[in-house]
Amino acid sequence: METEVVEDIVIVGAGIAGLTTSVGLHRLGIRSLVLESSDNLRVTGFAMNTWENGWKALDAVGVGDLLRQQHIQVNGNVTTSLVTGDQTSVTSFNATGKQHIEVRCVKRKLMLEALANELPSGTIRYKSKVVAIQESGFYKIAHLADGTTIKTKVLIGCDGVNSVVAKWLGFKKASFTGRYEIRGCAEFKTNHGFEPRFMQFLGKGFRVGAVPCDERAIYWFFTWTPISQDKELEENPAKLKQYVVKKLEKMPSDVKYFIEKTEADDFLPAPLRYRHPWELMLGNISKGNVCVAGDALHPMTPDIGQSGCCALEDGVVLARCLSEGFSKEPGTHIKEKDQYIRIEESLKKYARERRWRSIDVSFTSYMVGSIQQAESQLISFLRDKVLATFLANLYFKKSAYDCGTLNSS
Ligand SMILES: Cc1cc2nc3c(=O)[nH]c(=O)nc-3n(C[C@H](O)[C@H](O)[C@H](O)COP(=O)(O)OP(=O)(O)OC[C@H]3O[C@@H](n4cnc5c(N)ncnc54)[C@H](O)[C@@H]3O)c2cc1C
Repeated sequence: METEVVEDIVIVGAGIAGLTTSVGLHRLGIRSLVLESSDNLRVTGFAMNTWENGWKALDAVGVGDLLRQQHIQVNGNVTTSLVTGDQTSVTSFNATGKQHIEVRCVKRKLMLEALANELPSGTIRYKSKVVAIQESGFYKIAHLADGTTIKTKVLIGCDGVNSVVAKWLGFKKASFTGRYEIRGCAEFKTNHGFEPRFMQFLGKGFRVGAVPCDERAIYWFFTWTPISQDKELEENPAKLKQYVVKKLEKMPSDVKYFIEKTEADDFLPAPLRYRHPWELMLGNISKGNVCVAGDALHPMTPDIGQSGCCALEDGVVLARCLSEGFSKEPGTHIKEKDQYIRIEESLKKYARERRWRSIDVSFTSYMVGSIQQAESQLISFLRDKVLATFLANLYFKKSAYDCGTLNSS
């Protein structure tokens, strides 16, 4: 008779959160299987600002230095109001003393590849979409779209904003903010010559930003709230491009140039979703031997560029906690029930560590986005004249977090 294969750990989703968790576990000598619905690493959105806390997590799993070599360090943030034309805040990231932070805009493809390349071959199983989860004593069974089933001691949902695992844990569908973001990347044949700065422009009801990733590539984004007349724009990239370019009339022409240079077909708006703080406060981040990480746990708006960085933190903390659930004296045998209890405790510990961090960062991001993108004249005035430095400092505050190393002591 054939013995049934039981995986120790199954991670659903080979995005930032899933791969960081898997690499962290691998470094700690624990094997995991990553199930990815796409037929390759799925790259959406070109690049992401990676702040100090993200670099600490990347270092913890051992891929920080490789990515540093591929991306330039951003030396500051300049915010300009397109309403008044004034620079509302200028912040240096290289200043000596408390405000020295590392920020680089990392190409997503390179980040995913750097993580995936650290895993033993066969760790990621592509074309494996999880459609249902079933209880089976001390185990869980993941049902895949192709009819396959996989039995596991631990099931981790890193399956993004529409997570099936989060749904199984009782979380509601992430809420829509009413806002969208378009992202693009302008690639140059030679050095673009731009200062390595994060440039932000705040308009009436929209926010636009640009930052170099390296000497040849500049990442840009445009975030706005469509009004009812704009509905048709969502389905018409050419009209959407015209709409965006028109909004940017007051922007310096050299920055506007690479948005204009982007092909109309690439003007694809991404809806911005988030989880309410009370759901994060009361929801089950873990239940028995199941938990969620990354966007599956804390989908949030991109306004302080922290969601992906928090997904990296989740991966390090989760790998560290889970390794305690698998540690045992060499040569000893652990009963199924005892192992289940240890795993459950380790996931509860992870949930305790991540709950308040997730609430804090996602609430701050939502609040910053609402102020930065304000339509009202009063809030725009306060944003540009009173709150500019406060808002710029929030980027520092939320990135000043250390998720620690993979080892508990
Ligand atoms: C417009 C925008 C701009 C952003 N900018 C930044 C930024 O500057 N800085 C930053 O830190 N963050 C940023 N973010 C957030 C960042 O992109 C996400 O937080 C990050 O990608 C989350 O990683 P993840 O691994 O949790 O989820 P994902 O990246 O969504 O990965 C989930 C993976 O799971 C797979 N999957 C899904 N369902 C299943 C299933 N049922 N079975 C198997 N596989 C499945 C998917 O194919 C995917 O590969 C931004 C987000 C948006 C929308």
